[in-house]
Amino acid sequence: MARVLVIGAGGVGTVVVHKMAGLPGVFSDIMLASRTKSKCDAIARKVGGDRIKTAKVDADNVPQLVALIRTFKPDLVVNVALPYQDLTIMDACLETETSYLDTANYEPRDEAKFEYKWQWAYQERFREAGITAILGCGFDPGVTSVFTAYAAKHHFDEIHYLDIVDCNAGDHGKAFATNFNPEINIREVTQKGKYFENGKWVETEPHEIHKPLNYPEIGPKESYLIYHEELESLVKNFPTLKRARFWMTFGQEYLTHLRVIQNIGMAGIEPVMYEGHEIVPIQFLKAVLPNPGDLGENYKGWTSIGCRIRGVREGKEKTYYVYNNCSHEAAYAETGTQAVSYTTGVPAMIGAMMYLKGLWKKPGVFNVEEFDPDPFMEALNQHGLPWHEIHNADLEL
Ligand code: NDP
Repeated sequence: MARVLVIGAGGVGTVVVHKMAGLPGVFSDIMLASRTKSKCDAIARKVGGDRIKTAKVDADNVPQLVALIRTFKPDLVVNVALPYQDLTIMDACLETETSYLDTANYEPRDEAKFEYKWQWAYQERFREAGITAILGCGFDPGVTSVFTAYAAKHHFDEIHYLDIVDCNAGDHGKAFATNFNPEINIREVTQKGKYFENGKWVETEPHEIHKPLNYPEIGPKESYLIYHEELESLVKNFPTLKRARFWMTFGQEYLTHLRVIQNIGMAGIEPVMYEGHEIVPIQFLKAVLPNPGDLGENYKGWTSIGCRIRGVREGKEKTYYVYNNCSHEAAYAETGTQAVSYTTGVPAMIGAMMYLKGLWKKPGVFNVEEFDPDPFMEALNQHGLPWHEIHNADLEL
């Protein structure tokens, strides 16, 4: 029986509170707080049963967060607002000695650069306060990191090559839309590519390296090497890795729109003057693009995200592919959101459950692969994200 405060009433927040509400034995009291309270109220009504309390909070404002935490007294704060809010929410958790979980690492607003250094810098203070921070507990980062830890624990003596493969083979019927917050998504996919090889980071031009990869039940999809945040913590926590890369599928239509958006300056993060007001082009773009939370209704098809790993076991080389396929239609039928929100929200709920059951609880700041993967893997199967394994197949990479 525990109290949990969820911050951020977007697509991911919707799934998190939906799934928590179904487990009253674990999450007895749930509060959803966000910048716009009416969004929290609408989600609470949809979940029903008076299970979700709601509140308004500006998560950029530490005193407001502290006041809310002191009033509601949660055992854990789950941050599914935006990466910009990570540090203010961590500050409020420190001040109130409350544990913390998120799904995306901190990113400064004025620089499209995500790194763990800002959050890892809280390590000593969280340890001294006796509270836990669980970082990056969505699907990628999150499940992909747990998949890697599970592979290293059960299937290899040493893992050497890791390729995380993220395919969205769904069709939402719109000319252009992003599957999660457009501002964060476009900042992520338009930056330079980067991967780790032989102890060094190698940078590429955006989308420079690509190849078709076969995804189970889906088939071949052009996959592009991009930089993704879990690579930074995985190469640190699995020092036997000789190479670690991340691949994501994009359709030609999506890439063409993205190129136009960039070329005309609409992906810019520097403010520009418009009719006497300062506006940030990418934030204006977000206002006119489809809301990712509303894509679910007509979304068809699957996501397929997994880890393709090569390493050694008892002196012999072997390969291992562990993945989950998630249906957009099934995610929508269950929670009213599409699979990208679903595959992020379910692991955040499971991570919260791991903490509250005392299975992932230790003072300090941790990435998810630093905890025991076994109970989390079991919970994925029970709560809507079943996974599959393929041993010794051609990884294509
Ligand atoms: P949305 O944009 O749909 O939702 C974000 C919510 O946060 C909105 O309700 C917004 O409120 C709220 N919010 C923003 N700023 C503040 C603030 N200052 N104070 C209070 N609330 C605020 O995003 P998603 O639900 O798609 O994504 C949520 C998080 O999940 C993001 O950090 C994203 O990067 C992460 N993510 C992680 C993935 C993973 O696999 N690890 C995959 C996909 C997403 P309002 O509506 O009022 O503006």
